[in-house]
Amino acid sequence: MLDKFNRKITYLRVSVTDRCNLRCEYCMPAEGIKLIAHKDILSFDEIVNVCRTAAYHGVNKIRITGGEPLVRKGIVDLVRSISAIEGVDDIGMTTNGILLPKFANELKNAGLMRVNISLDTLDPDEYRKITRGGEITSVIQGIVAAQKVGLEPIKINSVVFDNHDNSMKDALKKFAKDMNLQIRFITQMHLDTGEFSIVEGGTGGDCSICNSIRLTANGFIKPCLFSDDQYSVRELGA
Ligand code: SAM
Ligand code: SF4
Repeated sequence: MLDKFNRKITYLRVSVTDRCNLRCEYCMPAEGIKLIAHKDILSFDEIVNVCRTAAYHGVNKIRITGGEPLVRKGIVDLVRSISAIEGVDDIGMTTNGILLPKFANELKNAGLMRVNISLDTLDPDEYRKITRGGEITSVIQGIVAAQKVGLEPIKINSVVFDNHDNSMKDALKKFAKDMNLQIRFITQMHLDTGEFSIVEGGTGGDCSICNSIRLTANGFIKPCLFSDDQYSVRELGA
């Protein structure tokens, strides 16, 4: 599948829910976001159909994200269905890791290959503050569980804040090295102002080589987080 700029689209990011079990300060307000009505959230059949169509047109890599993908009921079944699609040879998930101790093994058995786990600090109190109540021990246990079942490589996504001190960045780098994890740092973005940051150690930010599209939880295909272009897969009857 080529887009209008002749770029080959091989990577689809699928948001399976807008719900989350955390409330990270940089991601959503304390009271949470206005949630998408249940009837507007794509069913598993609809998501799998879109993935199948995408794979038919050349997508071979799918990443499941959210919100928090692991709070969507039946997520393991969805992973199993997506991993069975012909042409999909890489399936990953971006998660906050809180529910990984519970799901890592089932996800691996269902065909998930790799996980990106978000972790911005190693300090339990700071983690509780940033995520508005999250327990870092669950994330660490999630990382260990993912390693144990072979969900690899594990990449840590770490947001660097406007006021971030380099000592935490260094501590996270050491943690990643000691635990044999990859790590990449994302500068905090202010989406309300349209501010965009390039991921250190990532491939984003260069539009000329971008090969990915996104499917939102309510069924819109978007070429880019920073574009207003979108179309509804339901209206297209996908
Ligand atoms: N809930 C999952 C998680 O946290 O990994 C997946 C969805 S979350 C929106 C995906 C990634 O976006 C996370 O790594 C998170 O840190 C990052 N993110 C969210 N808001 C951001 C912001 N304002 N600036 C930079 N990164 C952000
Ligand atoms: Fe946003 Fe992910 Fe944090 Fe949830 S865990 S609030 S989706 S960054």
